[in-house]
Amino acid sequence: MKPIIIQGAESSEIDFFLDKLELYKEFTIGGFSFFKGNFNNVDVIISKTKVGEINAAAATTIGILNFEPRAVINQGTAGGHKETIHKGDIVIGEKFFQINSYKSEYLGKQKGTKPINWTLKEFKCLEDKKCNKYNVANKRLLELAKAEIPNLTNKKIHVGIIGSGDVWNREFDTITYLNKNFNTLCEDMETAGVYKIANSFDIPVVSIRIISNNELLKEEYEPKIAKECQELIYNFVKLL
Ligand code: SAH
Repeated sequence: MKPIIIQGAESSEIDFFLDKLELYKEFTIGGFSFFKGNFNNVDVIISKTKVGEINAAAATTIGILNFEPRAVINQGTAGGHKETIHKGDIVIGEKFFQINSYKSEYLGKQKGTKPINWTLKEFKCLEDKKCNKYNVANKRLLELAKAEIPNLTNKKIHVGIIGSGDVWNREFDTITYLNKNFNTLCEDMETAGVYKIANSFDIPVVSIRIISNNELLKEEYEPKIAKECQELIYNFVKLL
């Protein structure tokens, strides 16, 4: 059977997978690492995407073209965008919303900068009428995740929109603005790139994230919580 690509941006987001993996072969392509192997009788490619949308898009493209996966599972940490979403909670990304795609209002010489007036734009919609195709999780994977993940963990599970972009927001008002206007449940730096590329190749994709910080609640970033997301995904992929 074709493999499943499981992605993580940083070493701390793939280390548990690598411990569990019966490694067949390691590949480095264009500077991106891929670990081909098997766990629990599932053929997988563990892919280290590195941090950020460009890296994530490149790693997804390289992964799809070289390994012909039957699905791409993106996972890792994210920052909470609501006071009801705590560190340790899980977010299943039904869609992403790009949080770093702006058009500013015209301001003349020496008028400074007013980020609060910038409009968040879905630029891709201007050039492609079928823009909704690219920002969604695969229906079957999403339904499976919604049905099965509650059986695999006691953690609180949220399903909805992941805000994604090359930005780490720490301002209470910005985070609240994103949540109120665009319904973002959390933010990360990879899901947008991964969903865009996987959907353009028609490869089923879903992003499942663990909350590692929430500025609204002053819950500090804790990278090692990434292991708990990996444990969950490890059990989830057996069901695909
Ligand atoms: N480990 C670094 C941070 C790396 S960048 C450090 O110790 O400083 C952040 C990574 O964590 C990205 O891959 C991103 O997807 C995820 N992430 C976690 N919380 C985030 C947040 N609040 N905003 C943006 N990205 C976040």
